[in-house]
Amino acid sequence: MAKVWLVGAGPGPADLMTVRAVRVLAAADIVFHDALIGDDVLALAPNAEKVAVGKRCGAHSTSQRFINKRLADAARKYRNVVRLKGGDPMLFGRAQEEIDALAAEGIGVEVIPGVTAALAAAAGVQRSLTKRGVARSVAFVTPRVGDGEDPVEWAAAAARADTTAIYMGAGDAVAVASALVSQGVSPATPIALIENASRPDQTVHAGVLAALPALAAARGNGPALIVIGEICRDLASDEAALPIARRANG
Ligand code: SAH
Repeated sequence: MAKVWLVGAGPGPADLMTVRAVRVLAAADIVFHDALIGDDVLALAPNAEKVAVGKRCGAHSTSQRFINKRLADAARKYRNVVRLKGGDPMLFGRAQEEIDALAAEGIGVEVIPGVTAALAAAAGVQRSLTKRGVARSVAFVTPRVGDGEDPVEWAAAAARADTTAIYMGAGDAVAVASALVSQGVSPATPIALIENASRPDQTVHAGVLAALPALAAARGNGPALIVIGEICRDLASDEAALPIARRANG
């Protein structure tokens, strides 16, 4: 029985994947991938059957239980089974559910990390998520709730961190902004909304927390990450930091 490779595809461009990920994809017999994975990445698995199993804003997503079953079935049938996830598999990717479900069937998993969206976004705006004297803690959060989770607890974690990267939040910008303010984050806190981070069509919308709903409304339909904290200060007017970005300042 094969083990399943749980592979991080990174934020978009194929050349931001690890060498190990590329090697495993080249040998793959079957690849189960998220909707966010681009064709140039899938082209790295020329001999593999490609199965889309995800997951974009809940629309037409395959149920997690069904994905788990398909992975287990494939591990019994094929030598090289890859589960390919955007960014890093271990952040907001339901990786643990897949690892645990496969383990329950006696199937091993090997995880290959990837560049997560927050790190691609930091690179894209040339702002370090940490900075001496300014920021020494970073929170990765999402307002998206799973069963039985507290819908506002994420904002308390965000309020405690110097820098916060918010995943899957741009679509709920009004609720995100008000949850943060209700936890004591100043409406004047600098923020950036980075859409399509690391991709040729990366766009940056920078401003302050109070303007988040307007910035989010101005975005396109690519994946977008919100970064909040002092490290974003003056980003809207920072020509040097945004060499490839088309900017829309709010
Ligand atoms: N495991 C992934 C995150 C999956 S959740 C990772 O580590 O990056 C999906 C969310 O990630 C999106 O809603 C968006 O907030 C963020 N995201 C993914 N790719 C992105 C990109 N290229 N630019 C900006 N945000 C991105």
